[in-house]
Amino acid sequence: MVAALQRVRQRIAIAAERAGRDPATVRLIAVTKGVDAARVDEAIAAGARDIGENRVQEASAKRAQVGGAATWHLIGHLQTNKARRAAGIFDVVHSVDSERIARALSADRSAARPIAVLIEVELTGIAGRTGARPDAVAELARGMAAMEDLQLKGLMTIAPPVADPSEAKPFFSRLRSLRDELGHDLGLPLPELSMGMSRDFEAAVEEGATMVRLGTALFGGMPLA
Ligand SMILES: *Cc1c(COP(=O)(O)O)cnc(C)c1O
Repeated sequence: MVAALQRVRQRIAIAAERAGRDPATVRLIAVTKGVDAARVDEAIAAGARDIGENRVQEASAKRAQVGGAATWHLIGHLQTNKARRAAGIFDVVHSVDSERIARALSADRSAARPIAVLIEVELTGIAGRTGARPDAVAELARGMAAMEDLQLKGLMTIAPPVADPSEAKPFFSRLRSLRDELGHDLGLPLPELSMGMSRDFEAAVEEGATMVRLGTALFGGMPLA
């Protein structure tokens, strides 16, 4: 685990330097869906500080078993009826794509502090993908900025699977421009860009990712849905 983390950090650092960025501005989120609690603890002991899960149910059981301290990120699609529970488990939710979800998260008074959220933006046009459409993001962000228990931090996207990771770059740069425009129009600092997975994280770092979400690159195996 230590070696896998080191290898990935090294690759992040090289990509960051290529783009003239400080590697310390890129947070590595270890995606542990399908990985058992013992291995999550191992990852935390090896230096992982951020844990990503895509299902509320799985994360809830795991978080109760994991002893090590970490920041927990929900990266998968969230349903309204699970929002309350999610707000109690996660520190950061990357996948808000509707005002309904945002409201459901913000309404949770059991969260001891405001929950950090990102808007997931769907830029690929692939049928069935979740995420807010780019032309809906400004209105959603405006609504969310007014919700007291939410802290809107930025945007998230999932690039399409492409043969060459460099082909994912236009999607990442599109997310960055959208974030820049939004920040400007709303007068809000939106520091976070959650983009890049095992297959394309170096391209994402070159385009400004502040959070990369890595499962397979750290834990091996086939990527899960
Ligand atoms: C599973 C998942 C990842 C990590 O995927 P890998 O290809 O294993 O790195 C990243 N983001 C989301 C939203 C995921 O569901």
